[in-house]
Amino acid sequence: MPKIRCKCGELLRFGDIPCKIEYKFISDVEYDQYQEQIDSEILYLNMKSFLQCDECGRLWFFWDGFNNPPKEYVLNKISNES
Ligand SMILES: [Zn+2]
Repeated sequence: MPKIRCKCGELLRFGDIPCKIEYKFISDVEYDQYQEQIDSEILYLNMKSFLQCDECGRLWFFWDGFNNPPKEYVLNKISNES
């Protein structure tokens, strides 16, 4: 099962289908290339993924597919929030 270790120590497993910590996205420019009705499987294959760590809220974006290391995005916590 594919997995990565988050900086907080949490193990992020993303082999489940559907995966609760994986989110799919597509740029507006790429989506704009689709016209009329589209096959959801084709759309799925052209979307990219990020994982959200339940523990610390970090996002790990796979901009270049799962075969390349993800980029880390850290939640900027505001000091008066708990
Ligand atoms: Zn984490």
